[in-house]
Amino acid sequence: MGGIFGIVSSENCVQTLFYGTDYHSHLGTESGGMAVLGAKGFYKTVHSISQAQFKSRFIDDYKKMEGYFGIGAIDDETPQPLIFHSKFGVYAVAAAGLISNKDKLVNELLNEGASFGEMAGGGVNNAEIVACLINRGNNIVEGIASMRGAIEGSICALVLTADGIYAARDKVGRFPLSIGMNKNQKCKSYVVATEASSFENLGYELIQFLGPGEIVLLTPKGIKLMKPEGAEKKVCSFLWIYTGYPSSTYEGISVEGTRERCGIYLAKRDNVQADLVSGIPDSGVGHAIGYAMGSGLPYRRVLVKYTPGYGRSYTPPAQEIRDLVATMKLCAVREVIKGNRIVVCDDSIVRGTQLKNLTVKKLWDNGAKEIHIRPACPPLMFPCIYASSTRTTGELAGRKAIRALEGKEIEDPVEYLDPQSTKHAQMIDWIRHDLNVTSLKYLAIEDMIAAIGLPADQLCLHCWLGK
Ligand code: SF4
Repeated sequence: MGGIFGIVSSENCVQTLFYGTDYHSHLGTESGGMAVLGAKGFYKTVHSISQAQFKSRFIDDYKKMEGYFGIGAIDDETPQPLIFHSKFGVYAVAAAGLISNKDKLVNELLNEGASFGEMAGGGVNNAEIVACLINRGNNIVEGIASMRGAIEGSICALVLTADGIYAARDKVGRFPLSIGMNKNQKCKSYVVATEASSFENLGYELIQFLGPGEIVLLTPKGIKLMKPEGAEKKVCSFLWIYTGYPSSTYEGISVEGTRERCGIYLAKRDNVQADLVSGIPDSGVGHAIGYAMGSGLPYRRVLVKYTPGYGRSYTPPAQEIRDLVATMKLCAVREVIKGNRIVVCDDSIVRGTQLKNLTVKKLWDNGAKEIHIRPACPPLMFPCIYASSTRTTGELAGRKAIRALEGKEIEDPVEYLDPQSTKHAQMIDWIRHDLNVTSLKYLAIEDMIAAIGLPADQLCLHCWLGK
């Protein structure tokens, strides 16, 4: 999905920019970058972070940088921020999200006379497309609004100009942007970020969630509303279930609190006899703690993560690297596993291959008596079309089950979506059998929505319902 961070200050902001951008490292593993505007003008630095983490790649760069406004980005696809010379003057852009009609837009823009550089490995950089679309407007705000209108998918953008930073959330607020204010009154400064959890350790307090489609201009003097929020809101539910950082808050709703509530709902609907509950690190832990709270079972760690040097296993693009990372980073604790009936909570089951071949195997190999898997959301049936996703429809565990049960691909799996239907039960049992576990029970969608706490019509539920 990617993450973006921006800061406006009356003093040199580079250290805050460096650490604030780094606090988005869980949202991408391929590329990182920062751009600043200072007394010497614009400066940017962008590196691949596929072989080394953001901090180690940028530590030397940031010590040489100086500026009072800055933006940064972590991404899986697009090296950014980029700097542009335009009819609006010089500006830098960082954009998080997905442009699903990229080919169409590139052709349109080429026909209008635009030209694009080519990224290493081919393709056009999303930030270049965003900038070309902004340049269609009569001013930056109009340009940002028309850019969002032209894009299918979802883009949140930061535009760094000499006037300040324009911060624009995507049209329906699918992904977050929050604003923080410096607690130190001597140096007035504002930050804006995908992850509000980045603020506190940097000395900022969260003061505002941007609404869907809202555009503001941040300067050291304050926050100026440039375009009010729109009426339609469809916030990504998966932020709370998996993608977001546990200490973060979106729409005023805590990620960790939501995960605990998911676990409590899972426990309330369960009648399994077990000895302990555990979570698959990291994103299954909050759900498992909630399960322990709701069931009274002790929370114990059957798997621990070897943290130094490992990111999330879903983000590297190649499946074999994802599998290798997942194998290496999770270590079994035999003392806790042996002879026990174990409830294992995870955020979700995507393909199921890592869960089956790595986690479940490690638990059986270390003497588990029973394994009861409890994912904190219903079966994923559709790949995300609003953020970069490594999954395809055919890879999803639910779709593999349907293919095996029906003997062919089913375009519209509507009969399998109803949790009361026989077909749904057959699909779950096929996945359980394939995973080689004692039992499998998913969180119901109503419970997931209740755990988040927003009305269903304000949430994106496409992963589960296809709409
Ligand atoms: Fe989030 Fe899924 Fe919607 Fe994508 S499709 S925005 S991951 S809920």
